[in-house]
Amino acid sequence: MKIRSPIVSVLGHVDHGKTTLLDHIRGTAIAAREAGGITQHIGATEIPMQIIEKICGKFLKRFSIKERLPGLFFIDTPGHEAFTTLRKRGGALADLAILIVDINEGFKPQTYEALNILKMYKTPFIVAANKIDKISGWQVHEDMPFMDTFPLQASNVQERLETKVYELVGSLHEEGFASERFDRITDFTRQISIIPISAKTGEGIPELLTMLMGLAQQYLKKQLEIEPDAPAKGTVLEVKEEKGLGTTLDAIIYDGIIKDNDQIALITPDDIITTRIRSLLKPRPLEEMRETRKRFQKVNEVVAAAGIKIVAPNIDDVIPGSPLRVIKDDIKSIKDELQKEIEDVKIVTKDEGIIVKADTLGSLEAMVKLLEDLKVPIKIADIGDVSRKDVVNAQIAKQENELYGVIIAFNVKVLPSAMEEIKASKIKLFQGNVIYRLMEEYQEWMEKIKEKRKKKWLEAIIRPAKIRIIPKLVFRQSKPAIAGIEVLTGTIKQGYPLMTSEGKSLGKVASMQDKGESRKSASTGQKLAMAISEAIFGKNVHEDDILYVDVPEKHYKILIDKLRGDLTEDEYNTLQEIAEIKRKKDPTWGS
Ligand code: GDP
Repeated sequence: MKIRSPIVSVLGHVDHGKTTLLDHIRGTAIAAREAGGITQHIGATEIPMQIIEKICGKFLKRFSIKERLPGLFFIDTPGHEAFTTLRKRGGALADLAILIVDINEGFKPQTYEALNILKMYKTPFIVAANKIDKISGWQVHEDMPFMDTFPLQASNVQERLETKVYELVGSLHEEGFASERFDRITDFTRQISIIPISAKTGEGIPELLTMLMGLAQQYLKKQLEIEPDAPAKGTVLEVKEEKGLGTTLDAIIYDGIIKDNDQIALITPDDIITTRIRSLLKPRPLEEMRETRKRFQKVNEVVAAAGIKIVAPNIDDVIPGSPLRVIKDDIKSIKDELQKEIEDVKIVTKDEGIIVKADTLGSLEAMVKLLEDLKVPIKIADIGDVSRKDVVNAQIAKQENELYGVIIAFNVKVLPSAMEEIKASKIKLFQGNVIYRLMEEYQEWMEKIKEKRKKKWLEAIIRPAKIRIIPKLVFRQSKPAIAGIEVLTGTIKQGYPLMTSEGKSLGKVASMQDKGESRKSASTGQKLAMAISEAIFGKNVHEDDILYVDVPEKHYKILIDKLRGDLTEDEYNTLQEIAEIKRKKDPTWGS
């Protein structure tokens, strides 16, 4: 067993400083080269422990971090979209993350997105509150620890920073995370550390790296143990053409060893493929690159953690974000494992549900998980552009349930033929490149439809009401009887069944008229003329009688169980009176 460096990813909203932070860490590390040098990988930079010690100095000691870690392995491709691609079985490829927030701007859409993804993968993270040098009045002290530069600031500048830090604490709290400025944390297992930094001036970076080491120490014991001789496991970051090399794969290896000429298994949209490595490449050091003009150099083997470029035949269709496995003599079991991994993401378990399309296995997984949390059933989850077939499937789903006539498409195109079909069939399309926005839009739409349905349903429920026949206003004795009435409680509608206070049926409200105009409904206090289909004056009804809406038993139960909150006090009381009348004939009525 060997311990590898933890893989670290930087996430955050665009322009909040991801690239600048990575550049600064790399630059500081290069400047400190004499201490051991950094290792350049494909898509990643590894900072060895000696350099981290040099940058962090007293802080590592202060936080009593005694380390066996070889260093920190930073993924160079910043951004939350990259992060979703950076997955491995059952989680994120990155062991740790830095969520970077511009302290002057606070949380932005992609900050929330990143946070959601970290939550989903349960990735331990710290928050870098960046651009402290832009706080008005800030005095820059290049590369100084925060704990040293902060006391040198004017008190109103310190206050400004504090206020902004607390705004971040508030935003994190709203998302369900307890947090605190790193030096005030009392319980590292419960609180997220916020480290004020400037990616530009380097202030606070010593503490940022220290807190990362602390986080690694806290959370990553088992996860970092690797078998250096075992066949490698990795994740494909990108599939791309390189001049003179043809199609290549950039991959991060997180376990085991990968060698030139190894056989590897990979995933394409249609199949699991195997191929043999022609060359393994890593970036050439800058000085050499200038001399030879070649960007890459061949290596015979690499051990995790490593970022590597692979040249091999038949890899054009490999899915970014999908797993890579070195095969020894167990082709079948590895193929089965990969198959299972795809199926785990591309669940087709529900007979009814929506259609989800995404660009990578990671983003698809993220969407599927978030939708599952929202209890939204998914019929098809797949990688690739939205095709006509997807729309046809959505149409079938829509016939089952209007709520499922939906396609959610993340970072993919909608093919023209599919677009035509979408327009023709009124399938709802949600398309975009911020997952949580897509989720929000879908939820809002769903709420609207549910609201509409509820309204319709509510309208169909017969509600309680009570009326009185006004004396000396009987206009017609029968067939139908017509008399002046007053609504005592509730709202009465045309078509409602009526009964006497003894529970005898009087047929329906045939029609209503007020000052010569017909009315569909009448509410408490209103007086108007009502035609009652089966009433006969002098026989089953008399002047001054109180009549009730004959609420059907089924409706009574719905009103009591589900719509109690919707009834006014008067309506509720009237409903109880109706139940009492009914129970004189049938004691179990309504129970
Ligand atoms: P990304 O989109 O998150 O990768 O953001 P960048 O690293 O490209 O930064 C966006 C802009 O903010 C660039 O102009 C940076 O120079 C600037 N920037 C980043 N970090 C800082 C900082 O700490 N202080 C200041 N003043 N500017 C910064």
